[in-house]
Amino acid sequence: MPSIRGTTKGFHSMSMSGNQLIAFLSPTIGLIFTAFLLPLWLNNRSRSYIPYFVVAFVLYTLATSSQLFLVPGDTGRTAPITSIFYLSCIVLLTEGCLKRRNRDTSYRLTAAICGVSLIGVCYYYFADRNLITRIYILSVGCGLLFAIAAYRLRPSRDSCLVDKAIFWIFLLMSAQIFLRPLLIGRPGDANIDPDAFRTSPFWLALQFSLVVSAVVMGLTLLGAIFTEITADLKQQSTIDALTCVYNRRGFDEEASRAIKTGGSNPISLVVCDIDHFKAINDTQGHPRGDRVLKELALLLSAQTRESDLVGRIGGEEFAVLLRGCTPQEAVSYSERVRGLFEETGSSALRGSSTITASFGIADHISGETLRELMSRADQQLYAAKRSGRNRVCAEGNGIEYRASA
Ligand code: GH3
Ligand code: MG
Ligand code: MG
Repeated sequence: MPSIRGTTKGFHSMSMSGNQLIAFLSPTIGLIFTAFLLPLWLNNRSRSYIPYFVVAFVLYTLATSSQLFLVPGDTGRTAPITSIFYLSCIVLLTEGCLKRRNRDTSYRLTAAICGVSLIGVCYYYFADRNLITRIYILSVGCGLLFAIAAYRLRPSRDSCLVDKAIFWIFLLMSAQIFLRPLLIGRPGDANIDPDAFRTSPFWLALQFSLVVSAVVMGLTLLGAIFTEITADLKQQSTIDALTCVYNRRGFDEEASRAIKTGGSNPISLVVCDIDHFKAINDTQGHPRGDRVLKELALLLSAQTRESDLVGRIGGEEFAVLLRGCTPQEAVSYSERVRGLFEETGSSALRGSSTITASFGIADHISGETLRELMSRADQQLYAAKRSGRNRVCAEGNGIEYRASA
């Protein structure tokens, strides 16, 4: 891939041609993507994979610039330094992608590939100078790094578009890096004249692929980061920060969707309100009140199945949409949570204070909206409050009944 400087005069002594213009493009693109990625990282410190991409583009800029500016080419520094830049750029890029997907990486294998490649490049620079062999060695090293990362990031059928795109980009990168040296000859072929090398199909293909890969990779990574930030923002806007269950908006959206797509599966709605919560806040303080809210949210969630929905729909009011469960099961669920809350809810409180909650249940009737279902469940909740609190009231099959504490 790199190491194009064997015995060559510096770039500055050559006239500017189309080739060199293309060569200038690569560092410019590297700088542009660094400039986009850096503020994204500074504003999203929790995404620990972004700095890998930032440094990868800095190294890409250094690698492609070193091929232009690190003169003279014959000092013995250029080939190893450029190789270090390219190899570490690929290591950081692939590591960042693995980290983003929480995939493990094999540092030993990566270090071995980089080490062997660098030893080979140095040998064929300092001991037995041969440009074409160096190109082969570095290409195999870089190609292997991409191929291994592609294998580790192989997508499943459910993978998102970005993950599939990154896999295919890595696979294509490794294929073209493996194949490209064939354009220049065979390993061990005699050194070619540097000026002829700079107009060779290999050099052109290298410059072209450096530009295209950086643009495609940079845009894909930016796309990946923006997609994740947008998804997180959407999630934050539907989750209650205190209790980590859905907030009113999230619950309404999800529950309405579940009702629309539920078909003939039975659905029950449980609404639950903490009894005399204002007094708890007044006597024990708001922070303890908050702990009670968290405790109830935890109990409500722990007793549900994965397909059920739990939301905090008001200050100390929660709603639970139970899918595929019978009216009796909805009553049992509520009774279970009520009993557990009565037992453990007060653990967040000082002294001998006790805390309880009241529950109202309504079963979904075909064609009914969430609002109508909620209103019937609310009526049951008020009935529970009126009849003494700390109890479950439900209406099932048109018959109103009470399951008292
Ligand atoms: P009832 O048994 O009739 O439901 O009585 P209540 O005191 O629970 O009902 P009320 O509606 O009078 O009071 C609700 C209280 O909930 C008032 C408010 O201070 C408290 N509250 C609402 N949101 C929060 C919150 O986020 N944290 C805390 N700690 N308290 C909250
Ligand atoms: Mg209350
Ligand atoms: Mg209330």
